[in-house]
Amino acid sequence: MESTREWAEKQDLEDPLSVFRKEFALPTGVIQLNGNSLGPLPRAVPDALDEVVRHQWGEHLIRAWSEDGWWDAPVRVGDRIGRLIGAGAGRTVVGESTSVQLFNAVTAAARLRPDRPVLVSDSTNFPTDRYLATSVARLLGLRLIETPMGELGEVLRRYRGEVGAILCGAVDFRTGELWDISRTTADIHAAGGIAVWDLSHAAGAVPLDVDAAGVDLAVGCGYKYLSGGPGAPAFLYSAARHHDTLDLPLTGWHGHARPFDMADEFVPASGIDRARTGTPHVLSLLALEAALEPLEAAGVAAVRRKSLRLGDYLTRLVAEPSDASGAPGSDRGLEVVTPSAHDRRGNHITLRHARAPEVSAALMERGVVTDSRPPDLLRLCLNGLYVSHTDVFDAVATLRDVLREVPRAGEVAG
Ligand SMILES: *Cc1c(COP(=O)(O)O)cnc(C)c1O
Repeated sequence: MESTREWAEKQDLEDPLSVFRKEFALPTGVIQLNGNSLGPLPRAVPDALDEVVRHQWGEHLIRAWSEDGWWDAPVRVGDRIGRLIGAGAGRTVVGESTSVQLFNAVTAAARLRPDRPVLVSDSTNFPTDRYLATSVARLLGLRLIETPMGELGEVLRRYRGEVGAILCGAVDFRTGELWDISRTTADIHAAGGIAVWDLSHAAGAVPLDVDAAGVDLAVGCGYKYLSGGPGAPAFLYSAARHHDTLDLPLTGWHGHARPFDMADEFVPASGIDRARTGTPHVLSLLALEAALEPLEAAGVAAVRRKSLRLGDYLTRLVAEPSDASGAPGSDRGLEVVTPSAHDRRGNHITLRHARAPEVSAALMERGVVTDSRPPDLLRLCLNGLYVSHTDVFDAVATLRDVLREVPRAGEVAG
């Protein structure tokens, strides 16, 4: 009965998370399946920003730094994100773009192992991670080894004793594959390396326990599963054991032990405050803070359980054989790329189709927001916080319509 819309509606009625959908300003007629790229607008954000702009900035002027908690915001919001990723208080700071945080974290990681000549970088990672790892290697005179996550164990064996910083992606942005952070970090430590994890597609999506996993450093986006809005600041986590020795390359004055001394020399603050840089993007930072409420209330574990259910449902619907009118399925040139095992996948499901960009564009025209990644991958993010079973049913029905119109590669449209 899964193949009926009534079945999907019944699931939604019984779904304890369905109350959270109204916390997001989702336009009617739109199915938002790309929250792994830009999370939707949480309803609390416009009012929160209005208060910050008109009242705090407008009326309090510079006093807002203390009266309205602007100064503490990078570590206060950091602690809230920390709770979502399994970090104790005082280990996470928020500010800058993900790219900047990556540069800061990877360089600091390499500096924690000054005698190690090799920097390892995940070759399947998001481009900016790879570009920055390449730049850090060049800057510090390190040899860069790029490897897919699946072959990292072999690289660690080969370069045991030589590896310093190792930059890993937790969830593959293309395929949605999820890697075992705890086990991989243990392998990295056994080789004497420092594990830097990019959690951009994992934070707020997958239950994480960075403290327990022994992660050294981690960074992640604020605008994907955290829904902080376009350009939302990113977070940087550091295990407490590194705080005293963490030598970050971006030595901005907010990271100084006594910023208002205006001293000649940089003395890093103790604790995670040393990972602050300069004046934060206060408006974006406070928008992100307001955005976290629904996710905190629902809990990452519950959202994850539902996201997995939605992913299973989507893959079952997609695998249904074609009817006479041409349903999606392998016989329409679709292939599920994402692993089916729950402990091996994040919250987006990736489908391969030779005309993925056209399919994504056609879906968008019909109100189903997905995206594609070159050359042939279609990504559908199933965030259980606001996506329903009915959304999945309707999205697959729309996909079915679209595939009838978009020919397979090599087929002549007729
Ligand atoms: C989305 C994403 C980024 C984006 O970096 P920005 O500096 O925010 O543009 C970086 N790395 C990964 C793994 C991502 O998924």
